[in-house]
Amino acid sequence: MSAIPQVIALDGPAASGKSSVARVLASRLGWIYVNTGNMYRAATWAVVEAGVDATDEAAVLRVMGAISLEVTVEKRHSIVRVNGRDIESELNSEAVNRAVSHVASVEAVRSQLVAMQQRLGQEHPVVMEGRDIGTFVFPDAPYKFYIDAHEDVRLARRGLQGQADALQERDRIDSTRKVAPLMVAEDAVIIDSSHLTLEQVVARVMEILHERGLTSPAPH
Ligand code: C5P
Repeated sequence: MSAIPQVIALDGPAASGKSSVARVLASRLGWIYVNTGNMYRAATWAVVEAGVDATDEAAVLRVMGAISLEVTVEKRHSIVRVNGRDIESELNSEAVNRAVSHVASVEAVRSQLVAMQQRLGQEHPVVMEGRDIGTFVFPDAPYKFYIDAHEDVRLARRGLQGQADALQERDRIDSTRKVAPLMVAEDAVIIDSSHLTLEQVVARVMEILHERGLTSPAPH
């Protein structure tokens, strides 16, 4: 990569609030919002649909080879499609929640999706959220944040969303996998959102961006 990408990387564990922060931030800046979790979820949706065991790496790769998974930008948000179908409303099912960290541990799945994420970040100024954006996808990102929250707060947030989601198990697999595990980038600012409102987290991030010279919306 030549020029420094215009990327704000937001990483953190499940249900830390980073999606909401990323969405608001992108809209305030006029940047593109990219949800990389939804890309891993879309791959997982296809695996679940195929009736394949997510821990069977060879079978997961066969499914990946048989589908077309694409990401487009619509109304400044990333939208993922499988075989041309918008499956956004099916990405947070219990079956997908249960299987996604296994699918996301497969190196060839990651390299395919990381290439798409890097392309998006080269084409647009992006607020990109995930687990490895600041450490692996865009190690040169000029702005990196790690959004954290206590486990009980994160569990309560998921409960309010009415979702069955074994967060601790996902975090365990995501933090211990061999390729690009969830970790804090050396140069990331850590924000603990446990006792903060969404607006307070956004304000803190905006303040830091301002201190670092990002003062006005970038052209897009
Ligand atoms: O962000 P979300 O909780 O929707 O992500 C779902 C799963 O996708 C994570 O638990 C993780 O296994 C995987 N993921 C990842 N790398 C990313 C984003 C998500 O491995 N950059």
